[in-house]
Formats: sequence, structure tokens, C-alpha cells
Amino acid sequence: MPELPEVETVTRLIRPQLEGRRIVGADVQWLRTLGGPSRAVFERAVTGCTVKHVRRRAKHILFDLARGREPAGALAVHLRMTGRLFVAGLAAPRDAYARVTLDLHDDTRLVFVDVRKFGRFRFVPDAAAFTAGLGPEPLEAAFTPEWLYTALRARRRMLKPLLLDQTFLAGLGNIYVDECLHRARLHPERSAQTVTQAQASALHGAIRSVLAAAIERQGSSFDKFYRTPEGQPGSYQHEFRVYGRAGQPCPACGASIRRFVVGQRGTHACLRCQRPPRRSD
Ligand SMILES: [Zn+2]
Repeated sequence: MPELPEVETVTRLIRPQLEGRRIVGADVQWLRTLGGPSRAVFERAVTGCTVKHVRRRAKHILFDLARGREPAGALAVHLRMTGRLFVAGLAAPRDAYARVTLDLHDDTRLVFVDVRKFGRFRFVPDAAAFTAGLGPEPLEAAFTPEWLYTALRARRRMLKPLLLDQTFLAGLGNIYVDECLHRARLHPERSAQTVTQAQASALHGAIRSVLAAAIERQGSSFDKFYRTPEGQPGSYQHEFRVYGRAGQPCPACGASIRRFVVGQRGTHACLRCQRPPRRSD
């Protein structure tokens, strides 16, 4: 499922094709993708709007809309498992899995394709309210080693489910949490409140460097679903140290990577580099 690096890649690549374009028509092929309103309500909300900004917040791609000079809400796209966004010419053949398409004034079309239909393409009247509950962005200035240390010390939860919680920290998912915890040498079941200042600092550095490197490589493609808007796979999957590597040697120490379940999520770790917590932790 796309996480911060994949969603950031999609956002950056479609931005120049969408900002400043006016939506002249909407076609909803699968109603549930809208997450609530009827076709007619959605089409009325977006038709005639201009896309002012395209940005990412957590794993959402947000299109801020305006009607003339007035703000007119936003579109919030979540790719979930198999969603894909791209801009095509009007002459391009229809994709069989297209769920929502928006016709733009410059004879192009924004297409949301989603084989498994878990993705969402919502109109939200107020983007700030929609994103209000999300935690800080890990690549922005507010995310510091000190903030992370203080925030971890205040939580009794295990590290992995805590880092997956979008209200704690925005954008990480199952893959990048496993990769970051390995680089920081922290076990996924370690209780957040037992993390030392040095470990919090190592985790902060791992999160920053893994996400930056993954964006550089346009994210990770390990199945046929995640592709950039240009149809290209990402290449960060070649940098994975633990994710999907059960039974293979740890690149740091050579021990066998283990797969187990933490909070119902398949988890990968090296138990030599990432010492399991003692019962008393
Ligand atoms: Zn190891």
C-alpha cells in the first residue's frame, strides 16, 4: 500500500499537470469511491472549480479548489491498496478500472484507477478540518529528535503500532516502519516509553533518511500496483533491509531476518540487531 514516499512521488509528478486547470466535467464510474455523497452532489461541488494547489498531507493527496477567487473546498485522494492517479489526453482509451475521471479545460483528464476499489476520491468542504487530527509530517521542521523523544516517552504503546498511527506521526505504513526500526536497531514490540534519548534520536534519523531515500527512488514497487503517474515503478524495494526478506541474511549482521505478527501486521526484523524487549520493559 502506498506510504509517504509513493504518495509524495505521485503528488510531485501530477502537480504541474493540474495546478491552474479548471474542472469542466466529472464522471463517477464507481460511486463508493466518493466516500458518501451522491454523484450529482459531487459533480456540482467540483465542476467549474480551478485546482489551486496540489499537495500531500500524510497519505492523502489534496487538491485545493477555488471558484473564481473564493476557496471552494478540496479533493482528498487516498490510494489505499491499488489506487493510481494520472493525467491523460482526452483521446486516450478509457481504463477499465477507472473509478472517477475529471475533465480539465486544457483537453486533458485526471483519471483515478483502482482495481480493488478500496481507494477514495472525496470532496471535502474544509481541507484543514479534514486533516486536523493528523500527527506531524516527518520531513517538516516540527519533527525533531526532541519532539520524538518526548512524544515516545508519553506513550505506553509498542513502537510499531504507535508509528503506524497517523494521529501520532503522519505518512508511515507497514513497510517503512519496519525499515526505520531496523536502521534504528529498535524492536517493533519495544514499549515507546522505554526508548532512550539516543535511541529516539537514532529513530528520528532513520525515519528522515529512509523517507528521503525512498522519495529519491520514487517509492517502492514490489507488486504490479504502485506506479508513478508516468507508469514507472519505484525502485526503493531494492534497498529494503528487512521488509519481505524473511529467512535472508540481515545486511548489518548476517543473522536471519524473522517475520512475525505485531498488532495484526506482518512484521520483519533482525532479532540480533533489534533486541526483543524484556518482560519488564
Ligand atoms: Zn542484524
